[in-house]
Amino acid sequence: MKKNNSFLSAAVGAGLAAGAAYLYHKQKNREQRGDELMPVPQMKLEKELVKRMPDMIYYDRFQLAVQPVIDLETGGIVGGEVLSRLDHPEQGLIFPDKFLPAVEEAGLYPKFDHYIFRKTCALMRRLLDQGVELQYLSCNFSRMTLSEKSAATRLSKIADEFGLAHDCLAVEITEREKESDSEQFCENLIQIKKAGFRIFVDDLGAGVTSVRDLWSYPVDVVKIDRSLLLSADDDQGRTAYRGLRNLAVDLGCKVLCEGVETEQQHRFVLEAGCHYGQGFLFYRPMETEQFLYLMGGKR
Ligand code: C2E
Ligand code: CA
Ligand code: CA
Repeated sequence: MKKNNSFLSAAVGAGLAAGAAYLYHKQKNREQRGDELMPVPQMKLEKELVKRMPDMIYYDRFQLAVQPVIDLETGGIVGGEVLSRLDHPEQGLIFPDKFLPAVEEAGLYPKFDHYIFRKTCALMRRLLDQGVELQYLSCNFSRMTLSEKSAATRLSKIADEFGLAHDCLAVEITEREKESDSEQFCENLIQIKKAGFRIFVDDLGAGVTSVRDLWSYPVDVVKIDRSLLLSADDDQGRTAYRGLRNLAVDLGCKVLCEGVETEQQHRFVLEAGCHYGQGFLFYRPMETEQFLYLMGGKR
């Protein structure tokens, strides 16, 4: 199996993946027809991904990237968010915004999320075996996966296969699909929490994530979306950010600030009393080997 080890930042990589797709098709078309060429339309790429998604999972074509999360007070790394990248056989590295719609379209969200969770558990096992001290790794899950009847049992089973204490794993609830809350979903989160996993609410303040989630579910950590930090460049934006932070803390949650890119933003979230930070200012998502090295693991 071909492995592409060149990990780049999300933004750069997404551009490169699109560029690679363009070049590949340009070359192919040139060989076949020799006529004037156009970039691959997004629709075509998505259709191709939908069709090949079962194989991409089966042949383990996905890689993990880890973005460290820091304790804002000490600056030390407390955990890491696991993000996935598709190592496409012809088009190179493809980023989640490009392949997740295909995962959804193919009806493969539960399969995909469990596959990435299994890889996350394997990585956590490796970190522990190499003596790395890390509070947790968090993994993104779709609501669809977390609404399945056996959700809590499945997660426990996978974590147990790797002999992991459940509290070193966090479930990030991402809300890409605008599904309404089901009773099953709420019940599952209670079971997942009871099983000892941490629960993070992702992207608060963006799109479909609702503040009601903070008291409807057993939440440990609230991740305030990057868009809100970008809006915190004037008084009103800062008041709104602090208000959300206070609400989350009053409801018993810790607050993680997403998308910290500047020293000014760092100072603001620290002064606002937020607990954790994640963003390009601290660390970009990195390949797992690099993360192991950063954490001082034995290689
Ligand atoms: P997310 O969960 O909000 O993850 C953070 C995204 O923001 C990542 O993009 C990360 O590279 C980017 N990011 C981190 N810090 C900064 C910053 O300071 N500035 C900017 N501009 N961006 C920053 P990525 O890896 O492209 O992931 C996009 C989204 O795809 C994720 O957003 C998550 O919702 C979803 N996703 C990623 N991996 C998985 C997965 O394995 N399973 C599922 N279900 N969803 C995933
Ligand atoms: Ca996330
Ligand atoms: Ca997020």
